[in-house]
Amino acid sequence: MKVVTATSPGHVGRPNEDFVGDVPGVVVLLDGAGIPGTEAICRHGVAWYSHTLGDTLLGRLAREVGTDLVAALADSIEEVAGRHRHTCDLDNPSSPQSTVAIVRFDDDRAYFLVLADAYVVLDMVDAPPQVVTDAREVSVRRDCTAALHGLPAGTPEYEHARQSVIHALQARRNQPGGYWIAKDDPYAATQAVTGSVPRGRLNSAALLSNGASRIVDPYQLAGWPTVLELARTRGPGEILRQTGAAERETLAHFRTSTIPTMRQSPTANRQHDSGSETDPSRGLCGPARTATHGAGCAPWGNTCWRDAAIASNSSHLG
Ligand SMILES: [Zn+2]
Repeated sequence: MKVVTATSPGHVGRPNEDFVGDVPGVVVLLDGAGIPGTEAICRHGVAWYSHTLGDTLLGRLAREVGTDLVAALADSIEEVAGRHRHTCDLDNPSSPQSTVAIVRFDDDRAYFLVLADAYVVLDMVDAPPQVVTDAREVSVRRDCTAALHGLPAGTPEYEHARQSVIHALQARRNQPGGYWIAKDDPYAATQAVTGSVPRGRLNSAALLSNGASRIVDPYQLAGWPTVLELARTRGPGEILRQTGAAERETLAHFRTSTIPTMRQSPTANRQHDSGSETDPSRGLCGPARTATHGAGCAPWGNTCWRDAAIASNSSHLG
């Protein structure tokens, strides 16, 4: 198996809150989420959480060859929670959390796991790409933020509704009927989207954070077959380059436009990761986000870290 990874910062000077790494036969990608400046909740921060969970997960999958991905993730979540439960308020819904994508190969099959808003795209030998994601987070955010539609940002009505949205989202995080994300509850791992395909049917597998997936939606620069082709021929860095360019163009357009500051694309609720935080208002435009990032809010959110990895099934290609 050959693995190529790439990461691109959305915020210069901020630690990378995403993690991508591999050991023989395994690739993991985590997209950290949390509200910057919430040291009162967790003194370690989002970057520490995603990197510690990523390291723990990779180590476990390397040591325990063939272990079940759900079990490995659940045990890793529990282990990392145990490292800071005594110092940090992990019951707080805004404590650091992370989306997770894993691909593991054995001799016969490729196994995948996706928890929350991340992507595994399977490049099939004899069929169109299989796109694996966990749509519940996006769906919940879309439902909860509907109350903000039509309200001008910065008005008392908007701020009142925004607080209600925040509470509604927190109430549905890691709860039945809501959405699930790696945080402090190992049960969340059992809610991940999982599956496997015969290794002989697979050319490669791509793992993308939601930041990288924007090349498809909302930017519509490429479809998934083209994304896989780009990753294969020019490397995952090219996906990030094109996504970043589109993001900068969007921001520049938005800053110079006369469009009111409260805009939200149909996919705005996809935002959530580093730079967009677990603040339930992520993906929304308004004073809070402007204050946080020092710039206007793009129609579909702020810049963020973008990560992608492609694992080529070398046994097949070879
Ligand atoms: Zn902590």
